Amino acid sequence: MKYDNQEVVHKKIGDIQYLQFRALLKYKDNLQHCFTFRHGGVSSDKYNSLNLGLNTGDNIQNVKQNYISVCNIMNFNYDNLFRGIQTHSDKLIFVTKENCGSVLKDIDIECDGSITNIANIPLVTNSADCMTVLIYDNTNKYIASIHSGWQGVINGIVVKAINKLINEFNCSSKNLIVCICPSICKNCFEVMNDVKEKFESKFRYNDIIIKKDDTHYLIDLQLILKNEILSTGVLDENIHFSGICNKCNVEDFYSFRNDKVTGRMGCFIMLK
Ligand SMILES: [Zn+2]
Repeated sequence: MKYDNQEVVHKKIGDIQYLQFRALLKYKDNLQHCFTFRHGGVSSDKYNSLNLGLNTGDNIQNVKQNYISVCNIMNFNYDNLFRGIQTHSDKLIFVTKENCGSVLKDIDIECDGSITNIANIPLVTNSADCMTVLIYDNTNKYIASIHSGWQGVINGIVVKAINKLINEFNCSSKNLIVCICPSICKNCFEVMNDVKEKFESKFRYNDIIIKKDDTHYLIDLQLILKNEILSTGVLDENIHFSGICNKCNVEDFYSFRNDKVTGRMGCFIMLK
């Protein structure tokens, strides 16, 4: 289909479309995952139609119905979904049978990253420009799902999650597979001097900031994140970018920068 490339497969069941990473499909006996498009749901107007963001101003019952539809086609247990309230923080949560179920029970747990080694708990991350980063260790059977926009790149939440897997859960960096879902590309992420200076003072990598005109700059968030992930010891061959920009493709994906009032995609990952 349209978005198939060497990293991801584009699939459709009924009216619902989703992407899966080829690197994770190798482990499909142990793992289920998907990244949704904006099609095939019941939300209307600006949220048309598979909005999975619960805090976007959309009708909550429609959003919950969208979750149920995704759970049905992907065999996720709706009762066990874990979805944190994302605030662009660096806060990580370890998810168990006790604190999962946040979508069903309307439990507000603030975090931008979740980790578990327990089966049948789908970790959900929402995005609409920001990067969703999936991490999998097939040896120790851990999964993580991280929300990282530009603020998450600055506060280092992905590196923090990788280091937590290594230091607290005995994962080896060599075993970690890291997949980065569709997010805003370097041509679409335009900032002014205030944000540019934050990146300049924190990161020294080549080619991450391009001057567009006297007051505007383009920042390559994906390249910065790739360098940051490599610094943890994760192997280059185990880092997978979808190669897809949601903002360049707003007919198929939500983009906050493009529309302001809009829906959110959902990324799901679950150990079987
Ligand atoms: Zn783009």
